[in-house]
Amino acid sequence: MGCIFCKIIAREIPAEVLFENSCAIAILDVNPIHYGHTLVIPKVHHRDFLEVPDEELAGIMRAVHVVSGALVKGFGLEGFNFFSNNGTVAGQSVFHFHIHITPRYANDNIRFVLKLKRYEGQDMKGVAERIRASISG
Ligand code: 5GP
Ligand code: ZN
Repeated sequence: MGCIFCKIIAREIPAEVLFENSCAIAILDVNPIHYGHTLVIPKVHHRDFLEVPDEELAGIMRAVHVVSGALVKGFGLEGFNFFSNNGTVAGQSVFHFHIHITPRYANDNIRFVLKLKRYEGQDMKGVAERIRASISG
């Protein structure tokens, strides 16, 4: 179906494979934020995080854990980020779910540009109630 990550998993196109388990594969991102920037990708095609079935979640996160530890050890890191873009508005460009792991360095000047909001009055309570209702409903 033309998915680049499915083709990498099928070994139809090359990638630097770092690790794999029964649920996920870890490869180097071709356009790294820092060298070692890794993508952990479930072996089964799912469009985004919410499409991933419960039974695959632990295996995917175990792969994130293994590779994060290897990056810290291999590059002597003091810190790293992992994150996932879900949906076009969130910056997702490959619609096969994946988690980015990237090394971080002091003064590397990588940051989200944030304009933080404040909750006013009862807004925080209202927002929490709306989310809780969506979880239980
Ligand atoms: P997204 O923007 O969907 O969160 O992340 C997609 C990532 O996949 C990008 O960081 C991009 O550099 C990486 N990427 C896209 N095509 C390829 C590819 O063919 N090989 C590898 N290794 N990474 C890719
Ligand atoms: Zn795919």
